Amino acid sequence: MNHTEQFEKDLLVFGVSITERQREQFLKYYELLAEWNSFMNLTAITDFDEVMKKHFVDSISLVKAYPQISEKPVRLIDIGTGAGFPGLPLKIVFPHIQLTLLDSLQKRLKFLQEVIDRLQLGEVELIHGRAEDFAKPSAKREQYDICVSRAVANLATLSELCLPYVKVGGKFIPYKSEKTEEEILASGNAISMLGGRIEKQIEFELPESDIHRTLVVIDKIKATPKKYPRKAGLPAKEPLK
Ligand code: SAM
Repeated sequence: MNHTEQFEKDLLVFGVSITERQREQFLKYYELLAEWNSFMNLTAITDFDEVMKKHFVDSISLVKAYPQISEKPVRLIDIGTGAGFPGLPLKIVFPHIQLTLLDSLQKRLKFLQEVIDRLQLGEVELIHGRAEDFAKPSAKREQYDICVSRAVANLATLSELCLPYVKVGGKFIPYKSEKTEEEILASGNAISMLGGRIEKQIEFELPESDIHRTLVVIDKIKATPKKYPRKAGLPAKEPLK
């Protein structure tokens, strides 16, 4: 099997096929991730096949919850993107999306800028800071069609960090895995206070693996009250009930 055969087979399960250029971009992304990870903490996963499956395929699995992404030039923000997941693999596969990546760690943003430049991904907006601070009444509040986030916080906390960015009529789609039912029960009221409503959950295993993934699709049905998000740190320390 060549280097990317399994990866491309996995993507086909989601109805995604990639071009030679996109294949090269993923290989370069992997190379940069491995190189920079040797001197900064970006990911615990470094094996080639694991990065392909657990970072790249997993990121792209958003198409199962939001198939329109394959054609619509949506504005999408990834909160707590870390080494670029899920935002950058989505941008590689769907270059027409208008992508914003936000993270509170400056050195990770340096890595992201390098990846964007070397892969020639075009315009990607990078925001350095806490999610709580950029959702204040400003240019970034309620501006995005889609907000995604993976491995950042529990659903109640994450909803307070993410829903303020989504425009009414847009969607917040967190990547969840374990204890999703419990998290949904604990965050139902918070989601509704923040202007959201759970539309559905999409549950599946990543192709040819036992890695479980749940994508929760939350509709933004009304504006988030101005008092949210509360000041930085509070959404995690005292999640809304
Ligand atoms: N989303 C990536 C992934 O799935 O691989 C990274 C996950 S990493 C465990 C969590 C990331 O969220 C870190 O890069 C951290 O700096 C960022 N983060 C946590 N809380 C944040 C906040 N309040 N505002 C912005 N970034 C935050």
